[in-house]
Amino acid sequence: MGQKTILAPCMGVGKIVANVTRRAAYEIHAQCPEDVELLSIPALMAGDAHERELIQNNPTIIIDGCALRCTAHIFRQFGVDAVAKIEVNQVMKEKKIGPGKTRKELEATGKRLSDFTAEKVLMALNDEGLEARFVSPEELLLPPPDDLCGCPEQQFKVQRSTFNVDETAPNFEPSLTHHVNSVTVLPCQGIKRTGGRVTQRAAYEVVEDRFLGKSQVLCISALAAGCQEDVDMLEKFPTVAINGCAKRCASIAAEYHGIPAVAHVELPDVVPGFDCEAHCYEPDLTENELAISTQLAAATALAVEKLMGTEIEWSQRKINLHGLIHEPAKINALTGYRDAGGGILVKLAKEQIARMEAEAAIKAPVADTKIWNEQKAQHEVAAATMVCENPGLKTVMTGLFRPKKKE
Ligand code: SF4
Repeated sequence: MGQKTILAPCMGVGKIVANVTRRAAYEIHAQCPEDVELLSIPALMAGDAHERELIQNNPTIIIDGCALRCTAHIFRQFGVDAVAKIEVNQVMKEKKIGPGKTRKELEATGKRLSDFTAEKVLMALNDEGLEARFVSPEELLLPPPDDLCGCPEQQFKVQRSTFNVDETAPNFEPSLTHHVNSVTVLPCQGIKRTGGRVTQRAAYEVVEDRFLGKSQVLCISALAAGCQEDVDMLEKFPTVAINGCAKRCASIAAEYHGIPAVAHVELPDVVPGFDCEAHCYEPDLTENELAISTQLAAATALAVEKLMGTEIEWSQRKINLHGLIHEPAKINALTGYRDAGGGILVKLAKEQIARMEAEAAIKAPVADTKIWNEQKAQHEVAAATMVCENPGLKTVMTGLFRPKKKE
């Protein structure tokens, strides 16, 4: 594959904004399929070599749905820098629009929000000035400092080639029986592979339509980022994994975090002959996918029904986060990303950060006018000097395509 720009939506399943990220990525792909590819986070987390190669060898733009910033956490785990980040929560503030009320299918307002988000991604791709705001390729390619991941063993560097369960995690083996009155449903929630697209819809049908109040849907992206709500789902309730293809990313995700699913529903077994691994980039499920998702939901509901009210060998216990620290409020600062204006976060060069801070300091009120004037003069000199001393910021945007203008 020639170099493309990779779009990495958080593609979660819990929040509606997660579906906005997924749809925005599909919209961009529809405009320039030759130039972009979509990253599947569940497959990446399951050790898929192709997905890992995508982020190692191509510039990536992250699209996170909310301020929990799951994709940013996952990229930090893998030791990979994105060239830019967009956050849907910021787009919502800017455009004064919400995501709507349903996650099974986005309402018109959710679709409009995804249009705005897609526009922001296109702006990042088209912004000629953006390249000057990035650090040099050499700086960007440096490995992160040892303590950057909050991950002492550094298990998650890009070199990680296979999924690897830490069997020293506390309470790894189940030892007690458990009366099942609620289950967690974990779809593989993939993007682009048709099997993954189908599992997400099936999970919503099971959780919202058939076992409302007795089940919850778990998000692989949020789990990988250590979001407490999703951690609780895996720790407190037995999990039913729904796998969309033979890669079995949902089952791997549960096992990887130390609490394997108690039941596994496999789409290739439920609908033999369905081409689960075929790629589909339609923003909405096709008629055929909808029909398949209904069959998969029925099979999953059967698996849940079988578990409900029974005693199983399972116990609540802590999951293994492999050293990850969930710190959404700090992650942009920790990884060096800032919004230099326009709602697109980029990794700024040190000189640029200093200049922004100098400009902010000029604006800050100082009680003593004499001190204020002296500081202002110093800051202006500093800012001007930085501009002059920084003639040659190199670009990492050489690999980013410039989408053709719409006809
Ligand atoms: S919790 Fe994570 S996966 Fe869900 S919308 Fe927020 S950033 Fe996306």
